[in-house]
Amino acid sequence: MKRRAFVTGWPVAHSLSPVLHAFWLDRHAIDGSYEPLARAPDEFAAFMRELPASGWAGGNVTLPHKEVALRCCDHADVDAQAIGAANTLWLKNGQVHGGNSDAYGFAANLDQRASGWDQIDSALVIGAGGAARAVVHALLLRKIARVAIINRTLARASALADQFGPPIRAAQWSAMDKAIAAADLIVNTTSLGMQGQPALDVELDRARRSAMVCDLVYVPLETPLLAAARHRGLVAVDGLGMLLHQAVPGFERWFGVRPLVDDELRAHVLAAAARRRRRT
Ligand code: NAP
Repeated sequence: MKRRAFVTGWPVAHSLSPVLHAFWLDRHAIDGSYEPLARAPDEFAAFMRELPASGWAGGNVTLPHKEVALRCCDHADVDAQAIGAANTLWLKNGQVHGGNSDAYGFAANLDQRASGWDQIDSALVIGAGGAARAVVHALLLRKIARVAIINRTLARASALADQFGPPIRAAQWSAMDKAIAAADLIVNTTSLGMQGQPALDVELDRARRSAMVCDLVYVPLETPLLAAARHRGLVAVDGLGMLLHQAVPGFERWFGVRPLVDDELRAHVLAAAARRRRRT
């Protein structure tokens, strides 16, 4: 029987997930589909209630539903609980299970692009929104000894540090230069640098020569932050890989094959994104 999975959000038309899952379905000759489902916030709880009888194998959840998805699940895995949001749903014995693959995706991207990255002492996370929670969780799973969080709104950074506990600490935006100088890994989790947004205005002059810089933004692929990092000869890792890797656990659950993230997939998704940009 054909297995069907979805990605739901509001809006959802911009999501690249259908492109990458269609690539894997085709590569593995699987009789399945992965379909965008736009669900408004006031429809989402009913969507979750109806899921067990709906015939879907499961799906992904994107903004703004990830937190509500976690609350509506019958079971949530440890990652979803730690991050406070579910981005992957699957059905088992008539019950809805929720997981969160963003931390996995973040770490797997660095594993692929900057092998051995986790042999570091200190990281700086810029931003304290939903993506930052996944990044902090991943850094703790990899036992990074010191993690500083700097966010425009200090209270959100402090709340994250309080929730995750040591070795996470929050710092003021004004301490950015000092924090950059002390970091082996610098991660932008803000939306700054994204197409249509101003660049993240930080200086990398004092960054360590061995520092790695990772941007979660992937449109554009080369953000001003990553361009500045490359200019200084630092290792620079873009956010597209995180998007691709976070999709792996869901695909495996719904379709029974663990797919690969490779250059062919990356090129396929980039070409689809470029076609979309030309149309808009
Ligand atoms: P979010 O929860 O809305 O958080 C946004 C963050 O950006 C907050 O820390 C916010 O600071 C900060 N910010 C926004 N405008 C700012 C400004 N003008 N100056 C300084 N800080 C500003 O969003 P999110 O879900 O965490 O997503 C953040 C980014 O990560 C987005 O670009 C998203 O596309 C990307 N992302 C990528 C992946 C991937 O797979 N590569 C996965 C998830 C997210 P305040 O708290 O002060 O508002």
